[in-house]
Amino acid sequence: MGDMYADVIVDISSGQLDKTYQYSIPEQLLSVAVMGAPVIIPFGTAKREGYIVGISGEPKIAVERIKPITAVKEKGQVIESQMIALAYFIRENFGATMNDALHTVLPVKQAVRRVEKKTLVSDAGMDVLKDALEKAVRRGYAARERLLRRLISDGELLWETVTGELSISSPTVQALVREGIVKVLVKESYRNPLTSLLKLNEGEGEEKSLKPLPPLNASQQKIHDRIAADLSAGVHKTYLVHGVTGSGKTEVYLSVIEEVVRAGRQVIMLIPEIALTYQTLLRFYRRFGDRVSVLHSRMSAGERYDQSLRAKNGEIDIIIGPRSALFTPFERLGLIILDEEHEASYKSEMPPKYHAREVAIERARLSGASVILGSATPSLWAYESAMRGEFTLFTLKERAVPGALMPTVSVVDLREELAAGNRMIFSRALQEKMRKRLLSGQQTMLFLNRRGYAGFVSCRSCGHVMKCPHCDISMTEHDNGTLVCHYCGERRKKPATCPSCGSKYIAGFGTGTQKIEEGVKKIFPEARVLRMDADTTKKKESYSEILSSFSRGEADILVGTQMIVKGHDFPNVTLVGILAADLSLNSGDYQAAERTFDLLAQAAGRAGRGRLLGEVVIQTYQPDHYAIKSAAEADYEGFFRQEMAYRRALSYPPVSHVMVVLILSVKEARADSAAQLIAGAAGEFIKENGLCTTVVGPAPASLAKANDLYRRMVYFKETDYSWLTALKNFLEGYILYSEHFKNVNIQFDFDPVSGY
Ligand code: ADP
Ligand code: ZN
Ligand code: ZN
Repeated sequence: MGDMYADVIVDISSGQLDKTYQYSIPEQLLSVAVMGAPVIIPFGTAKREGYIVGISGEPKIAVERIKPITAVKEKGQVIESQMIALAYFIRENFGATMNDALHTVLPVKQAVRRVEKKTLVSDAGMDVLKDALEKAVRRGYAARERLLRRLISDGELLWETVTGELSISSPTVQALVREGIVKVLVKESYRNPLTSLLKLNEGEGEEKSLKPLPPLNASQQKIHDRIAADLSAGVHKTYLVHGVTGSGKTEVYLSVIEEVVRAGRQVIMLIPEIALTYQTLLRFYRRFGDRVSVLHSRMSAGERYDQSLRAKNGEIDIIIGPRSALFTPFERLGLIILDEEHEASYKSEMPPKYHAREVAIERARLSGASVILGSATPSLWAYESAMRGEFTLFTLKERAVPGALMPTVSVVDLREELAAGNRMIFSRALQEKMRKRLLSGQQTMLFLNRRGYAGFVSCRSCGHVMKCPHCDISMTEHDNGTLVCHYCGERRKKPATCPSCGSKYIAGFGTGTQKIEEGVKKIFPEARVLRMDADTTKKKESYSEILSSFSRGEADILVGTQMIVKGHDFPNVTLVGILAADLSLNSGDYQAAERTFDLLAQAAGRAGRGRLLGEVVIQTYQPDHYAIKSAAEADYEGFFRQEMAYRRALSYPPVSHVMVVLILSVKEARADSAAQLIAGAAGEFIKENGLCTTVVGPAPASLAKANDLYRRMVYFKETDYSWLTALKNFLEGYILYSEHFKNVNIQFDFDPVSGY
């Protein structure tokens, strides 16, 4: 073996993570000089500490100028080493530069502009204050008098009041401080964003004191006991808790977290941002008080850095947050929970396009921790892993609140509505049920599942959807009436009549929440309607404003996109209408059915959360589709079996793995030629290694141009993930050493969760 060299990063918190220095690895250190290892190195005339973030056999400068590593430090519990190893895992498995990966996992030091709250108080006692006031009046000290009078009446004065309204100078205050009559207090706010969040919402009349655990029911207890037994035996696994909405999963998490914290270890609780509601946070705060903190997207980089310091210093035991909370530098991590593990938001949309689920499992492995995945509609990936015995599966079949029932679900065939002459977006059955709710003062949610919507074309008479013959994926309508498959690039002219029934009612599917709101107002002019979509929630607070207004009963009907599916509990909602299940069913990627099943099940979970029985109406042109049928019957296992058969037949994940190479350039010709070169090079690699990898494309992405960038893609399907990553490494090298990729941005995405 030739000489080996290590790239060492010296200042981990500087943000310049790509600034590395190369050292040679002495023979005797080869086995311990691994990715992430803390090392001591000669640096100028001194010695410094650093971390290995790259290893190669190639010197970057003249060999005689490269100095050897002095020593590799004992690893022990160095959290930075673990995080660098995790970055390397991300780099290897999801495709990204090491620099991008490091930026993802390491908190970068930020100057925090703490908001300081300065106040004036007194603990000298009322007698002393009154005495001092009397003296000030006698001696004619007007400023003193003003200050003391106000302090006696208010008890505590904001610094702004002292200097502003009362216009008292600093020497006056200082004199009083010296006499021991008053004190200046400086409080840093944002110490714990959770407490400030909860205080912001004060006045909702909820008790915030710590509460003892409500007793778990038998099914919850069983899960708790099994996991607790593993924990105390030092056995670390991945568990999947499959529990219907409201079955008490969160209560199980809380009780397991309590065990972990009691054992002196720390917990990362991931939840989708949209589910980070006041109610959820309050439940954690009540159980664990100040030992819980939170991360969310509205926090500044400084506030986030602050939280990672608190975590590292052991000031908190539990962090709640979206994907990025996974990188909280806990040194005694014992448990990672991913609630709603099926959520697409756990996959990063920016390079590195990592999936939090797999990274969580790796982080847990590195630190000897356990993982709990929870969902009412587990991802196929997780459920399939559980079926293979890789994860331990637990099931909760009933709602936890005694007497609470799952809602009744009916499916309306929109083809029959058309045949009966009803061209409105509301079926007759749905209108009837809405009318009843208006009369009885109960609430309705109308839901338009536009997620991933990509302009499919279908027949209104028979429901036939135009699909790609090669990929079995809905084709997308482009301006000029051509249908395009954005997996393989297949193009067809849009037919004038339905190929299945001959009807001329064939069209793209275009409707928005605004149109629905107008429609409701036309039929029920007296109804109070709220709308929630990307337009009405542009402002930061509008999302929670709309939801709390609806929760207070200020509207009868809430119209919205998938945003309304999660989070709040509305006990008075007894009807959920899903207006066009077809929108997500034909979203033009292989996960359309899975996403539809999830959305329908989650939306149905909104109905009847209180004492009243809930009803759900699903409108669709494809009432016989298995995703819709099994969602209506709340039959997850049935859906899983059918969907796996489809994935197996067409070799889609989790049966095989997909790697998308996305090629972006301002010049169309450049994007095209780069895509061709990548497909060609990949073809050679596949042939040389005797693989059966399927290559699809190059083809324009469904979003063929965005932000002035032309978007092309090449798609690979392969059963062996490690061959896909090998192909990625090969392509990275090829791209790096070829001059044809200047001004072309290339991104990798493994098992994508959304279309391109
Ligand atoms: P999930 O996380 O599965 O949606 P939650 O843990 O939020 O379920 O529980 C749903 C509701 O049931 C909550 O209001 C919760 O307080 C209540 N609940 C949970 N477990 C129990 C229990 N053992 N007894 C009574 N109520 C419970
Ligand atoms: Zn196709
Ligand atoms: Zn037809």
